[in-house]
Amino acid sequence: MFRKLPADLTPTEASPGLRVKGPTKYTSAQGDYVCGGCGIEDHANGDRDVKALVDDYTANHGPAHRKETR
Ligand SMILES: [Zn+2]
Repeated sequence: MFRKLPADLTPTEASPGLRVKGPTKYTSAQGDYVCGGCGIEDHANGDRDVKALVDDYTANHGPAHRKETR
């Protein structure tokens, strides 16, 4: 069963998170995130930059924020 991807994969404040699109024959890899913890957003293009973006999000945002207790 296939789920159709939404046309707009860009994360928003309403639905924070990380979105990564792998490279295709015609486009380079793309990544975006909106952090649900601090609201910061970032975007990257290209394999290396997208990987750095994912590492940054994983290490400093998203899951990292959730470890903190309030
Ligand atoms: Zn954050």
